[in-house]
Amino acid sequence: MTTNPPQAGVPGILPEGAGPQGLDTKFLQQLDSAHYLHPFTDHAALREHGARVIVRGDGIYLWDSEGNKIIDGMAGLWCVNAGYGRTSIADAVHAQMLQLPFYNSFFNTTNVPAVQLAALLADISPPQFQHVFYTNSGSEANDTIVRMVRRYWQLAGQPGRQAIISRRNAYHGSTMAGASLGGMAGMHAQGGLPIPGIHHIGQPSYAEGGRGMSEAEFGLEAAGWLEASILALGPENVAAFIGEPVQGAGGVIIPPSTYWPEIQRICDKYDILLVSDEVICGFGRLGTWFGCELMGFQPDLIAFAKGVTSGYVPLGGVLVGGRVAHLLTEKGGDFNHGFTYSGHPSACAAALENIRILETEQLVERVALATGPHLKACFASLVSHPLVGHAETCGLTAGLNLVRRNGETVHDCEPFASTHVVGMLCRKHMFDNGVIMRAVGDRMIVAPPLSITVGQIDEMVERIRYCLDLTLEEVT
Ligand code: PLP
Repeated sequence: MTTNPPQAGVPGILPEGAGPQGLDTKFLQQLDSAHYLHPFTDHAALREHGARVIVRGDGIYLWDSEGNKIIDGMAGLWCVNAGYGRTSIADAVHAQMLQLPFYNSFFNTTNVPAVQLAALLADISPPQFQHVFYTNSGSEANDTIVRMVRRYWQLAGQPGRQAIISRRNAYHGSTMAGASLGGMAGMHAQGGLPIPGIHHIGQPSYAEGGRGMSEAEFGLEAAGWLEASILALGPENVAAFIGEPVQGAGGVIIPPSTYWPEIQRICDKYDILLVSDEVICGFGRLGTWFGCELMGFQPDLIAFAKGVTSGYVPLGGVLVGGRVAHLLTEKGGDFNHGFTYSGHPSACAAALENIRILETEQLVERVALATGPHLKACFASLVSHPLVGHAETCGLTAGLNLVRRNGETVHDCEPFASTHVVGMLCRKHMFDNGVIMRAVGDRMIVAPPLSITVGQIDEMVERIRYCLDLTLEEVT
């Protein structure tokens, strides 16, 4: 601990003898633990070990302050779709900042990049989406959706439709409404959540709930939980159903192919708005521009963030389908909702250039035709590892379960007695050996930048296999 900590940002803050990046890691770690409250972090543990200081990125690689090179298997936090080091995004933001760094979109004003991006989003999204409402993040997008669907039903003359149905183990953000929509028990326990009117059904995890059923049967069964919930609440009280096409933070839960079409049928039957949270799945992660296109459903609203700018600058939003947009714009008057930075010109400039890169380098098609199938084959090969129960892949995201193996099928594996321990151990080995994987309990997940090549996937999987070996040595 420094007795007299210098002010962050003051030149000359680093002492003599700084490390390879000109940085003194220990010193930064001290400042970090003295002043910086991190998201989703146990600060006692952080203090003990010190934060790893990430200083540079290029392509799929990161470097830390000690000069270690790391494969970023998580694309930041599922967001750096175009990869690191894109100078053209930096140039676009720089040029926009010189021209007009900020102006708001309240009170009948607009700005050029926000308009251009709105038109581009209408072009690349499914045809029902011709309008966008901008936010700064995915959480704010989902907050906006809660207000928007309730406003929609007011305007539609059915103000009783307030309830929103979501799923356990879903992640929809950290604001009060986002965390309420999410189905994370640990988040609900801190802060009296969920807020009123949010209800949860089970997640479509075949490994968790599909015993004795085919995947197709289980998909229909899991979608049926929505119908049961609608009937219990009364359809006249239900506004919307929200789900991630593939649950990301919950552990890459890929639903059976029968699930989403059945969810669509049920929403149509009871006239309920269908919301796709595409904060992770949007902008190519699954090999289509939006995950709903792969999963075969037509939502009324889409939440997006992350990949829209590849995380270079914060931006999120809601794509608003014709049904909702029509009432809001024709009959709604003022929608009393918005953020200072809705349609931030510099963020929209970053998004325009990012989408141009995704399009010109055909990164979405590459996920569908080359890198996604290659990741699938590589993860399928990891199932031969004695620590791996099963592995699933969808586009450029994948998960594998660390288990004790008793047999060949998904259901012949025994979970470790205390979950998290093995996952955290494995994650540490990965981190120490130059690859970032995330641990969700004992499920290890990846979602690398879409710019990753087939050769780099091989390099990543080779390191993963090596770290699985290291983990196995410690648990047997
Ligand atoms: N929705 C989903 C599906 C997410 O994965 C996330 C973040 O991981 C969010 C919403 C929240 O986005 P943000 O962290 O930008 O608020």
